This record gives sequence, C-alpha cells and structure tokens, in this order.
Amino acid sequence: MQPRDPQQTPEEGEIAVIGAGVTGLSIALRLAREGHEVTLIAPTDQAGEGASHGNAGVIADYAVLPLGQPGLLRDLPRLLLSSTSPLSIRAAAIATLAPWLLRFLRQSLPRPAQRNAQALASLMNRAGSGWQDLAAEIDGTELLRANGALLLYESERESIAAEGGRAWQRALGVQLEQLGGAEVAQMEPALAAAVSAGKVAGAAYFPDGRSVTDPTAMMRKLANATAMAGVRRIDTHVTGLRPGGRGGASLTGPGLSLTARHVVIAAGAWSAPLAQAAGARVPLETERGYHLEFDAAASRFSRPVSPERRGFYFCPMAGRLRVAGTVELGGLNAPAAPRRLRALERHARHFLPDLPPPCRQWLGFRPSLPDSLPVIGPVPGARGVWLAFGHGHLGLTLAPVTAEVIADGVAGRQAALDPAPFRPGRF
Ligand SMILES: Cc1cc2nc3c(=O)[nH]c(=O)nc-3n(C[C@H](O)[C@H](O)[C@H](O)COP(=O)(O)OP(=O)(O)OC[C@H]3O[C@@H](n4cnc5c(N)ncnc54)[C@H](O)[C@@H]3O)c2cc1C
Repeated sequence: MQPRDPQQTPEEGEIAVIGAGVTGLSIALRLAREGHEVTLIAPTDQAGEGASHGNAGVIADYAVLPLGQPGLLRDLPRLLLSSTSPLSIRAAAIATLAPWLLRFLRQSLPRPAQRNAQALASLMNRAGSGWQDLAAEIDGTELLRANGALLLYESERESIAAEGGRAWQRALGVQLEQLGGAEVAQMEPALAAAVSAGKVAGAAYFPDGRSVTDPTAMMRKLANATAMAGVRRIDTHVTGLRPGGRGGASLTGPGLSLTARHVVIAAGAWSAPLAQAAGARVPLETERGYHLEFDAAASRFSRPVSPERRGFYFCPMAGRLRVAGTVELGGLNAPAAPRRLRALERHARHFLPDLPPPCRQWLGFRPSLPDSLPVIGPVPGARGVWLAFGHGHLGLTLAPVTAEVIADGVAGRQAALDPAPFRPGRF
C-alpha cells in the first residue's frame, strides 16, 4: 500500500505490527486469523535481505542450551584469540558492546544458564509442531524437510567433552542419538572422505529436527498468506512511536501517521529504539552472521550438518548448498568483513576440499539478548505496546510460538506456556 500524506489526521487501526521478517509476518498472520484488523508496517526495499532470508533454515528445536553457559566461559580466551574462530569481536565496537558483554558473562554462570535453558526449552517444546501447522496453513509444507540434523564431532575427545551438554539436552526433553564416524558417512556420503581422513569422528543426530529448504520461498508464502488473511501492508519505516494515554501508540514515519490500540514491535535487530520510545530499555545487540552459497554443490547433503565447534551449518537448499553461521559482534553499520567470509570458506573446504568457488555471499543481523531469550510480551507502563524480538540464533525456529504467545496476550487468554521468562521488564 502507498504511504499517505502525514499532514492528514492520523489513521486509526486496531493492531499495528512493525517488521515483516519471519517474526512480524507470523504474528500478523496469527492475529488476522483470530479476527483482528491488522496493519503490517515494514519497508519492502529490504525484503529478501534480512536475517529471515539468509539464515541456515534449521528449525533447531533441539538447541535448548543458551549461548551463554559455563563451557563457553572456559573456551572464551581460545575463541577470542584464534584468527579462524567462529566468534569474533570488531575492535571498534568493544566500548559500545561492553555493557552487553558484561551481562552476557553474568548470564553464562551456572545458575542463570540453567534457568535460561529451562525457559528456552519451554518455547522449543512447541516449535516443531508450531512450524508443521504454520507450513500447512500457508501452503508451505513442501518447503519443510523432516529428516533431522547432525552436529559433528571432529574427534573422540570432542565427543566426550560434549557429553555434559548432551545430558543437559536429554534432561530438557530433546531426542538425540550418538553416532560413530561410519554411521555419519552412511547418512551423509559427502562426508565419507572426511571420516576416512580422520576429520569426523562422530555426531549427535537429532531425529526430530526439521529444516526449511528455501527460507525466502517460505517467507514469500508467509507474506502471501498474510495478504490473503486481510493484513494491510504499509511500505515504510517507523521512525516515531508515542504510547497513547489510553493504551496503544501513535506511529509516524515517511508517509505514515497511524494510531493503533495495540502495537507489536517485531523489527528484529532494529527494534531497540522503538522499544525505548515505548519506555522499555532492552539490551539488544546484533550477532552478525554470514553465508556463502555454492550452486554446483546443491545435492551434497540431505539434511543440515554442523561442525559445531566451527560455528556453522552446511544447509542443503533448493538449487544450492548454503554454508551459514559464525558470530561477529560489531553492530549494524560496519560492512561485511572479507576475513570472516574467507574463514567460513576455509572451514567448509576442510570437509569438502573440492567445493567450487562460492556464487553468493551475505551478511545478516541476528537480534540478540544477553540471556539468549527473546522478549515476548507487554511493555510495563505502556498498555497495548508489545515486544517480540531478540530471538538471536533461533528466530526462524521460534516464529510460530512467538506468534502464539503474542496472540494469547492480545486476547487476554491464559497462555499455553509461562510467558514470565520472556517479559520485557526483566532487564
Ligand atoms: C547466518 C545466520 C544463520 C541463522 N540460522 C538460523 C537457523 O538455522 N534457525 C533459526 O531459527 N534461526 C537462524 N538464524 C536467526 C534468524 O534468522 C533470526 O533470529 C530471525 O530471522 C529474526 O527474525 P525477525 O523477524 O525478528 O527479524 P528480521 O528478519 O531481521 O526482520 C526485521 C524486519 O523489521 C523491519 N524493520 C526494521 N526496522 C524497521 C522500522 N523502523 N520500521 C519498520 N520496519 C522495520 C525490517 O525491514 C524487517 O522486515 C540465523 C541468523 C543468521 C544471521
């Protein structure tokens, strides 16, 4: 829809959702299907570029352990000193990042990590079935693959060291099987040479894991379904948000002047200033991640495979192999770092030395909070303003369950899961 003249009297609406990534679209669809009048606001010029398009496509409902945990604290010096590490921090951003990093370190201590894992697991328990239902609803079932995922161990030592994490996952309800090298080669013949060369010793296999074979195609299906459900789309940036005295908020931006009884902020890594305008200070940072795509290697794998220690996934996708992952802390404005892309390619070639040159490269922004949990819920003191962002590495996985929690909140229904760990006021 065309932007309107902002000099006119503000339009009035029932619900405005800001952001059209996988989170905003899923929320808008769910609310419209429940009979609400929904306006979705996001610039279409960025469509196709965001994290919801360039991700690894894994519905990783087995990933119940937070990023911040005692094991990571132990590994941190090694991770920060290695030039090929899956984790890096841009030197120019260290001062800005310091408060977030301090919170992250505190959340990595045993007790908070345990609490965060419990909370994450409560969302994850509903993620797989949530995606199955959502895909069926939007005619996207053929884009959803259900043959699990593999996390590789490169040595016996690595596999033994991971036992604590596996036990923790099992205790939180995750189904997993431990495989030896020969079984890995049987499941994924592309790794047979790596197994023979001693580069892969085994894997954890998550049989319930699902994956999306083309995230952009799935996003298109979601966008079409929202339009069919009657969601009105306004193609602009929200630059101003003012909570209303009697609830909801007024939104402004180029060509935008809208007052809505409920406003949902789902603008991914760009959400913090909007949340702050509503009175919520949320420590949102971005974990920058990269991908490379190899068209001629499309059929090498049959499921997502991650050499976890190196922080990336091989993701078989329609017409290409996507190699996606790694974490770079460094804000939203710095350009892509060629060094990080070269390191990602080197890691991929360690397992598949005959990969052709990559066809495409991409940088995206994970919206991340220090406790690895999203904010999903109402802003304290601003009735009718809701936050739904900060899903970090798991935004694709958690989109349907996030939509469920927001829809329950807007309707004033008893939520099917305890929303307390995700409340915006927890910081
Ligand atoms: C390399 C990589 C691999 C990943 N792999 C996986 C994976 O395998 N599984 C998984 O579950 N997750 C994965 N993720 C994470 C996942 O992609 C993100 O958590 C998720 O896409 C976030 O979705 P979102 O809708 O919250 O934000 P985004 O997709 O970033 O969308 C934000 C939206 O807000 C809009 N917007 C921003 N500012 C404004 C404004 N002022 N006004 C209006 N609109 C605005 C944008 O235009 C966009 O439409 C990965 C991420 C990366 C980077």
